Amino acid sequence: MSNKILVVDDAKVVRVSLGKIMKKLGFEIFEAEDGAVALEQMKSHPDIAIIMLDWNMPVMNGYDFLVALRAQPKHATLPYVVMVTTETGMPSMLKALAGGANEYIMKPFSESIIRDKLEILGIEEPR
Ligand SMILES: [Mg+2]
Repeated sequence: MSNKILVVDDAKVVRVSLGKIMKKLGFEIFEAEDGAVALEQMKSHPDIAIIMLDWNMPVMNGYDFLVALRAQPKHATLPYVVMVTTETGMPSMLKALAGGANEYIMKPFSESIIRDKLEILGIEEPR
């Protein structure tokens, strides 16, 4: 598994804070501000191992991105997708998991929550 992680969120402040945490854990950070840019990033960097994905974004939202990603045979199961969102109602969570998300983090997040989720997924911190 590569140490590349894609942070997808329309809020720059979220991308920066998530990026900081993941960089500290040894990951190489890539960013996208919406699902369409995220699809382009996946084309340029198909070995990205984890995607931290916001739901509500302009142009293409996180759920539509997720479905488009998982429809590609090479991305049917990988990278791991962790939803990081305020969309935390049970119907939304079930919809995202059915759409191919692996884990769910509710905003606001903390470093320890993120580490816990990575551990649940069996992802070792590169560093
Ligand atoms: Mg958003």
